[in-house]
Amino acid sequence: MTAGGHDKVERRGLMFVLSSPSGAGKTTMSRLLMKRMPDMQMSVSVTTRPKRPGEVEGRDYRFIDKARFKAMADNEELLEWATVFDNLYGTPRKPVEDALAAGHDVLFDIDWQGTQQLRERARADVVSVFLLPPSADALETRLHSRAQDSDEVIRGRMSRAGHEMSHWPEYDYVVINSDLDEAYEKIELILKVERLRRERQMWLSDYVRELQRQLER
Ligand code: 5GP
Repeated sequence: MTAGGHDKVERRGLMFVLSSPSGAGKTTMSRLLMKRMPDMQMSVSVTTRPKRPGEVEGRDYRFIDKARFKAMADNEELLEWATVFDNLYGTPRKPVEDALAAGHDVLFDIDWQGTQQLRERARADVVSVFLLPPSADALETRLHSRAQDSDEVIRGRMSRAGHEMSHWPEYDYVVINSDLDEAYEKIELILKVERLRRERQMWLSDYVRELQRQLER
């Protein structure tokens, strides 16, 4: 038995949550993580908000109406859900449970309300990172440069950002996104270290038992 032969199969998948006020660079960060980190699957949320230009059904979100959302929540098909900017957002349960059972990690782009619910339900499996913008100006510039939302929506998002940020102490890690590459390096490091935690390496007890057996010979 070798350690290398076991960690791929028997590592317990983790729930990697990335939250931030809108405009702090979370979507770019999630895409980078998905591209560069093996064994990572993105949780695609359902939402009742309208699709923005450039968004793809099933990749960015599953866009559904309020009745369907309510039915999913009532049938406990959602792991968590919340109202954000007057729209409903939720995480479908089944894909997450299947991925974790197969030993894959799941990446969540959800807000603080959803993070609280995930932690209540699965504390041991959740690793949460809060991404902060380097300044208020940078946040506003990013919101405008996205050019996806109206001025009114952007004003709403700016005024919500201060409130959202007040939840930073509820997260395991906080990263300031001044430089994308540097912030990415930190987030990748967090993920790599968390993957190495003893309790996630389920093969370890068998491995040590086998080592002890060999030593007793
Ligand atoms: P946006 O409309 O900009 O895509 O997302 C608005 C906010 O909703 C973001 O903070 C995003 O993280 C959050 N969000 C997206 N999907 C979910 C979800 O499934 N659950 C929760 N609680 N928040 C979500």
